[in-house]
Amino acid sequence: MRVLVISDIHANLTALEAVLTDAGTFEAVWCLGDLVGYGPDPNECIEIVQTLPNLNCLVGNHDHAALGMIPIARFNQDAQEGIKWTMEALTDEHRDYLKSLPAIITLENFTLAHGSPREPIWEYILDVHLADANFAFINTDFCLVGHSHLPLIFFRSNHQAYSIPIAIQENEPFELRPRMILNPGSVGQPRDLDPRAAYAILDLEEQTWELNRVSYDITDVQLRILQSGLPERHATRLVAGW
Ligand code: ZN
Repeated sequence: MRVLVISDIHANLTALEAVLTDAGTFEAVWCLGDLVGYGPDPNECIEIVQTLPNLNCLVGNHDHAALGMIPIARFNQDAQEGIKWTMEALTDEHRDYLKSLPAIITLENFTLAHGSPREPIWEYILDVHLADANFAFINTDFCLVGHSHLPLIFFRSNHQAYSIPIAIQENEPFELRPRMILNPGSVGQPRDLDPRAAYAILDLEEQTWELNRVSYDITDVQLRILQSGLPERHATRLVAGW
């Protein structure tokens, strides 16, 4: 089964559509949270995500914030503006959908969490030390996370006392080995200085992970951000990919 793994869409409809077209055929979708926040299309993105086949979708910190479940003071000024705007924009139906999403799930041999298995909503796994700390909280061979908006892989075999980061080629299936923490990057707001939307294809039979990037019409999204009254920085950062 080919699983499309996406995360951190952040209300960027144009990037989401580009990913769905570029991904080709897939039988299931695992979405790691942050459907909304920053971008101009929260309702449209939720609408599309809900229609995806065999969907498993998590809630993220921005989704929680848009539901009023996290004090917005925990976010920086620009993010706060985006959260307030999103709170106003969300329909009741879509708010209810976000409320229904779990923070962590286990599927097959995979643990899925937005931030980390130790602290699913808020913790970022950015380095080997944080990866090490989190392997203790994983009872499966693999763990998929989002939140950092960075495509990353950390590997720690059962015989190894420490984690190592692994760099892989784009568009090339990479063979999974127990145990790994994998991040597909962000669909709607990449932060690795590559503005292209990021996603991964997980092949459950072959046990491979393929990281992909796709360009999309950023100008189109920037216009909608500015027209909707969201902070200008939400638009400018998309070109820089941070
Ligand atoms: Zn995010």
